[in-house]
Amino acid sequence: MKPKIYITRKLPDPIVTRLAEVCEIKMWEKEEEPVPREILEKEIQDVEGLYCLLTERIDKPLLNMGTKLKIVSNMAVGYNNIDVAAATEKGIMVTNTPGVLTETTADLTFALLMATSRRLVEASHYLREGKWKTWSPMQLTGQDIYGATLGIFGLGRIGEALAKRAKGFDMKVYYHNRSRKVEVEEVLGIKYVDKEKLLRESDFICVLMPFTPETKNYIGAAELSLMKQSAVLVNTARGGIVDEEALYDALKNGDIWGAGIDVFEEEPVKTNHPLLSLPNVVALPHIGSASVNTRLKMALLAAENLLQGLQGETPKHLVN
Ligand code: NAP
Repeated sequence: MKPKIYITRKLPDPIVTRLAEVCEIKMWEKEEEPVPREILEKEIQDVEGLYCLLTERIDKPLLNMGTKLKIVSNMAVGYNNIDVAAATEKGIMVTNTPGVLTETTADLTFALLMATSRRLVEASHYLREGKWKTWSPMQLTGQDIYGATLGIFGLGRIGEALAKRAKGFDMKVYYHNRSRKVEVEEVLGIKYVDKEKLLRESDFICVLMPFTPETKNYIGAAELSLMKQSAVLVNTARGGIVDEEALYDALKNGDIWGAGIDVFEEEPVKTNHPLLSLPNVVALPHIGSASVNTRLKMALLAAENLLQGLQGETPKHLVN
């Protein structure tokens, strides 16, 4: 008897084929629409494995319904959508997909840093809207990247990959974590500083830590007030780490210069979200890991994690 699994979104065919070798599959067949909660609540009661995305809230009530559930495999490195403590209590394994998306997300983070500081989106609209009448000395001027100071909150896999990119631009790199990484500092030529120094002295600040109760509103009004007026904030980690109301105020009042945002407290973000009304914001729909190759690798890794768990092995990327 094959173990039953439920997949919460239509996956690419090769991934489904791989899973079907071992499992009996049911899948939510839509690509652009998340599975309704009531369907997930029904399906979870019958399966040993759940393959899900960050769009699904895997909370305690849902886990309680999964009386046969052995493993929840998340197709993402962040797993703040899952109540891991509740899963652990019930002996349910939780897995994620670290590593395979590191470089792609670091690329996007640096792209967002560049797009925001050099006003790429605004400049492109300016041209298309017929506003470009002449060349003028201070027209659409931005902030320099080469030789500037980058501060990274959360120097993990993606943070380190970002620091390597910054070194190619001769940037001075600061970072802040809960724990220092002396060996990485030496290899990359970067410096550990406290939170306040990073906020005060960085020209660019990138947020790359996980979203946890501890990091909720990690960047709020107090932190934004310490930043340079010329500074750019980039968040490609998770919404909720940066207080969106405080960020709106800081951008509107010119307390900081711009923000590049890939992630929001509530996703998908509504088009009337205040941050989207500001010209000094470059906003993206959570595409940090969105390259063809990386998304396929993530989907396959999540499948392998699930299969390992169901076949009695310890999954390679078990988080609990
Ligand atoms: P990682 O390797 O686990 O790195 C996270 C870093 O954050 C660690 O170095 C950790 O160091 C630090 N950190 C954790 N809590 C902290 C705190 N309270 N204060 C300061 N630093 C803290 O994770 P990763 O693979 O680089 O991914 C990072 C995050 O990026 C993920 O959790 C995910 O949410 C997000 N992400 C987003 C996208 C996207 O599409 N936009 C794609 C991939 C990942 P210490 O433990 O020493 O503090």
